[in-house]
Amino acid sequence: MKTDELREKYLSFYQSKGHHRQASDVLVPTWDPSVLFTPAGMNQFKDHFLGKVKLDFTRATTCQKCLRTGDIDNVGRTAYHHTFFEMLGNFSFGDYFKNEAVAWAWEFLTDKKWLGIDPARLTVTVYKDDDEAFKIWNEKIGLPTGRISRLEEDENFWPASAPSQGPDGVCGPCSEIYYTLDSGKTVEIWNLVFTQFNRVGNPPDNLRPLPSKNIDTGMGMERTASVLQNVPTNFHIDILMPIVQAASEVCGVPYQYESDNGRRLRRITDHVRACTFAIHENVYPGPKKARYVIKRLLRRAVLDGHQMGLREPFLHQLVPMVAQMMKSVYPELTQTSERVAQVMRREESDFFATIDSGLDRIGKVFQDMQSSGRVMVDGQEAASLYQTYGVPPEMFQQIAAEKSYTFDWDGYRAAMNKHGEVSGGGGMELFETGPIETLKEALQHCEFLGYETTKADALVKGIIIGKPKADHLVGSVKSAQAVEMTRIVLDRSPFYGESGGQLGDNGELIGSQGKFQVTDTQRSGELIIHYGSMLDGELKEGDLVKAVVDEPHRDAIRRAHSATHIIHHALQKTVGSHAQQQGSKVDADWLRFDFSNQEPLSEEQLKSVESISNDRIKDADSIGWKLVPLATAREAGAMMLFGEKYPDPVRMVSMGEFSKELCGGTHAGRTDEIEAIEILAEESVAAGIRRITAVTGKRASEHRKRVESLALQSASLLGCSIDNIGEKTMELILAVRKLKKLANGAGNEAVPELTKKGNVVPSTVNYSATRAAFKQVARAMNAPIEEIPKRIDAMLSEETQLHQQLLQMSSGGRLSIDDLMGQAVLVAGTQLIVAETPHANIGMMRQWIDQLRKASIEPIAILLANCADDKVTLIAGISQTLVERGFSAGKWIAPVAETVGGGGGGKADLAQAGGKYPAKLPEALQIAKDTWHSMLA
Ligand code: ATP
Ligand code: MG
Repeated sequence: MKTDELREKYLSFYQSKGHHRQASDVLVPTWDPSVLFTPAGMNQFKDHFLGKVKLDFTRATTCQKCLRTGDIDNVGRTAYHHTFFEMLGNFSFGDYFKNEAVAWAWEFLTDKKWLGIDPARLTVTVYKDDDEAFKIWNEKIGLPTGRISRLEEDENFWPASAPSQGPDGVCGPCSEIYYTLDSGKTVEIWNLVFTQFNRVGNPPDNLRPLPSKNIDTGMGMERTASVLQNVPTNFHIDILMPIVQAASEVCGVPYQYESDNGRRLRRITDHVRACTFAIHENVYPGPKKARYVIKRLLRRAVLDGHQMGLREPFLHQLVPMVAQMMKSVYPELTQTSERVAQVMRREESDFFATIDSGLDRIGKVFQDMQSSGRVMVDGQEAASLYQTYGVPPEMFQQIAAEKSYTFDWDGYRAAMNKHGEVSGGGGMELFETGPIETLKEALQHCEFLGYETTKADALVKGIIIGKPKADHLVGSVKSAQAVEMTRIVLDRSPFYGESGGQLGDNGELIGSQGKFQVTDTQRSGELIIHYGSMLDGELKEGDLVKAVVDEPHRDAIRRAHSATHIIHHALQKTVGSHAQQQGSKVDADWLRFDFSNQEPLSEEQLKSVESISNDRIKDADSIGWKLVPLATAREAGAMMLFGEKYPDPVRMVSMGEFSKELCGGTHAGRTDEIEAIEILAEESVAAGIRRITAVTGKRASEHRKRVESLALQSASLLGCSIDNIGEKTMELILAVRKLKKLANGAGNEAVPELTKKGNVVPSTVNYSATRAAFKQVARAMNAPIEEIPKRIDAMLSEETQLHQQLLQMSSGGRLSIDDLMGQAVLVAGTQLIVAETPHANIGMMRQWIDQLRKASIEPIAILLANCADDKVTLIAGISQTLVERGFSAGKWIAPVAETVGGGGGGKADLAQAGGKYPAKLPEALQIAKDTWHSMLA
């Protein structure tokens, strides 16, 4: 039986038993902070099990994409473990229980109409105290007692060992179903979990029956397919073998089951599938959490390739094959496979660039360990390897394990902690507890009224104070009370809780005896939570309040949110259909929009995005929404974000004929309400992802005014018309650069004239030309726009100052090398120059010394001096040959400096000193000459 057929059969079997067929949740459930990846089918139903949401159905069946990092080390080695796999499951939320769960599992497995597995192949396990399950298998199903094992709590309880070790909360026994292979070995294909207890404290007597019992089952789809297809491992089933083969081809290594390379090819197959699904959901390889796991999987697969002799990126070539194999259920993979491959390729090349040096270093570490007899890899060493060569510690550990070395994880963590960058998750709880969770159980739902209105009457259902983890429900809250973090939950609310990138609403909750100011609104599951503080009076549980959203603020958010859809549309038209949304943040008349694109947008592209956007605004198209079945929305071509969890039916927001997006946000009524879209910046946020920041409404027009006024200020400073400010700035920058060079003694050119200032020509250019010119200035100056006029002003005064300095120098008889050379006297075969160089700065004096040393045929000694602002500057330099003969510029300058009341020093070939008595300079210069003479003598 083909895997696709198995999947379909499972789902339709349970549908035929009254189950709602629910789509797979995303692989990386960002909505659930307790896990990095979906570990099992039940994950999306946690709140259903606990009665924390309104139940639209009490029976469900799914095929769930799962990823288990705990099984990484097994991949390729065991026949039946993946990181990424699909889990088939059926769930009961207080509906049917053990009898049906067992009977249906048996029927599905053995009935000819379904899987038709020979019953003699099947054995089961039950929890040792679960007589009920034992009886059902034995008496109702007719399984002989010899084929039912009773196992301990560490094997057959969920969570494992919960009765004795905890945690408290819902738990229950399970029953596993095993298939016997031809070899006689057994493989677990299905686990039925009966959540029937609430654990309270330690044994004895700590398992209390739950009033509403649940069923949660998980069948490993690949495992079941492999036994049905009678192949040696999961990797040999119809949807995986072609990937193994493609990997073998790409790597140029034949696939042999029982070989190191065979294991490597299987691991590559598994990891490329995991990475493809995750990157598809926009989880790119990165330094933390889920992204880190993906980075690690990808690098592990690359290492496998490297060990088979590959030296160039290869893994990405397998992406199309993965998409091909999975497309019957996940057709969306084919839409992104190009982007996924690109991202993968980049990460591969990064790793290939350092892998050899990394492995070399690992080899050295092993050598050291061997010679010193150590068997534990030093954690600090591993941390440094990760930081320098990007070798993930888990990979290092694996390589070390192959040599039977252990790994110092504590040391590794300590070292990484010092750098504040520990990867991975850890310390997450499967089920959250706390007042919010209590309220969820009690209320299940809070109706959102904000699509229709911004004002509504509502009842206070819960008041929570205190920081998370130390928070609790209180009956009332007063304005005079010093409380930390007050949160109010209502039965219904027009306040939008932050989600889909749109920030939460502000406003007020007005009761008969008090007023609460809402400064933020968040969502938790289906609850809307109002954050803020009491303005006056008191609010009590059960109070009737008027919930009033700050309307101007909401309107500004609506404009910005609609603008993101318009920008998305404009990007698709300008850059291409790959420029899909990767994330967004929507605030009052301000937005950030992330999209896939490898390169920065060109000036032209940015202009086009902006002008298309503003054209759509001018069109004044109406904006509307309706709830439609997810499938209908997909058919209508609505823009969907991969990795986003969409409800069904889903809310589809349309603008005129040009945009359809699935979106839960609040929007303007017509596009012209947005007024204008001004793009402030376009930049990179991550590999392959660009970010546009823009403003709308009043902020857009304010921004325009600001740009215009800054451009005008710049023009008047530069003395030119607005459309010339770009060129004029460049001219100024070049002029200053040149003056600086001259002032430092490079070149003998005449002092250039100051850049010319004309009259400010009143601007006739339109805004977009003004902005283009101003942008050019901002780029040339590399400064934030507000700083530009200040910078121009500073640059102009710098120009004037340098100019004056140079003029002074030349009026004081600007010295040239030739002038100075002319002052040289020959003393015992060496040239000596002791000269005053008025107005020259230190840089210039050094330059001269340098040039004189180069120009002189004989060995030369030069001492230059000048006075400025009551200070004396002295510099002495001698040729290298003199240094070799034992002379020292430092020794030479010392008595000279002393004469002018100063000191200094330097090296043998060049020394510098300062002094405070300019009047003594002539005396000092004489001493310089005398000293040189006596040094030579
Ligand atoms: P095992 O002990 O074999 O690792 P498990 O006890 O961890 O399995 P469950 O958590 O009960 O498995 O998951 C339900 C089913 O999912 C299992 O019966 C098995 O068929 C499948 N499964 C679990 N882990 C994996 C994996 N890493 N790769 C493929 N299938 C798996
Ligand atoms: Mg397991």
